[in-house]
Amino acid sequence: TFGAMVRAPSQPALPGVKHVVLVGSGKGGVGKSSVAVNLAASLARDGAKVGLLDADVYGPSVAHMMGQGAARITANEERKMLPIEAHGVKFLSMANLSPAGQALVWRGPMLHSAIQQFLKDAAWGQLDYLIVDLPPGTGDVQLSLTQTVQVTGAVIVTTPQDVALIDAARAIDMFKKASVPVLGIVENMSYFVAPDTGHTYDLFGRGGSRKLGEQFPLLGEVPIDTDVRQDSDQGTPVVLAHPDRPAAAVLTQVARNL
Ligand code: ADP
Repeated sequence: TFGAMVRAPSQPALPGVKHVVLVGSGKGGVGKSSVAVNLAASLARDGAKVGLLDADVYGPSVAHMMGQGAARITANEERKMLPIEAHGVKFLSMANLSPAGQALVWRGPMLHSAIQQFLKDAAWGQLDYLIVDLPPGTGDVQLSLTQTVQVTGAVIVTTPQDVALIDAARAIDMFKKASVPVLGIVENMSYFVAPDTGHTYDLFGRGGSRKLGEQFPLLGEVPIDTDVRQDSDQGTPVVLAHPDRPAAAVLTQVARNL
């Protein structure tokens, strides 16, 4: 269990990288990758040097969300992987290594070494932030990461639904046991404002994250907005494509408070 595997108090920092920020969730489909991509794009737009590592090895969606699903990773003369650049963000994703539609059927140690390579055998250069999109849940990849590099902190993404919150609490507990500070919680799909009537609907309930947030700051409540999904599908994060949308404003604010 994680309890038995608490990391040493200080892992080596990643050379040249000021802050490693993990974006995690208890469950899949809550919008973790969307949050990671928008945080990275927002920080870059504000002038920071930003890297984005897609460590969601089972469902790598960062490349697609950055509009670079077809790009392929190349290496420099030192045989280090060159991150792909889009929207001012340097990123690496397994999706840019393996052909589309091909499953990654890997054992834990292979995942561990893939993550190690993405962190250490890549030419990230100088970064203010390396944002890491974790797989959902509490598994091998999360453990590898917290044991490999010094992590500034973790952002937990959840929906207000009870099952998501229960799993988010598990993810929080994992980070605590791995001595990774929890920076706070982003509640995604918090509510929906009907464009025709202006009426607000709490589709997944509301207020649950505030309970979790009694121990950790609630960093933001992001509404459901078709533009969040559409902009992702079209390869430009909503914070850049539609910065005036309320969802984009919340995500921008979360990035500025990191
Ligand atoms: P996860 O990384 O947790 O599996 P994703 O970020 O891939 O979740 O999001 C799942 C789906 O929900 C995607 O199609 C994404 O575009 C969509 N989505 C995420 N957040 C929102 C939101 N606030 N409003 C509308 N759609 C969203």
